[in-house]
Amino acid sequence: MKHTIVKNLGGETKTVSLNPLKAIRATCLECVCWSPKEVKLCPSTLCALYPYRCGTNPGRKGIGDSSNLRKKGS
Ligand code: SF4
Repeated sequence: MKHTIVKNLGGETKTVSLNPLKAIRATCLECVCWSPKEVKLCPSTLCALYPYRCGTNPGRKGIGDSSNLRKKGS
């Protein structure tokens, strides 16, 4: 879905296509003044968004990774 979000400290906005992970990522970026490094270093491990803050679902780690595919004949 398309939604308008704030994109920087100056309050500029942009309309982006969002899914739940992208929405969490956008929220985390806003939470730390749009610094991707600070999102990664976030110390708030009890925040409900913490596991998803980097835009990935840790519960799906490895799923869809082509390196998991068995090579033919092995
Ligand atoms: S996980 Fe960290 S950066 Fe993301 S919303 Fe929570 S406190 Fe903010």
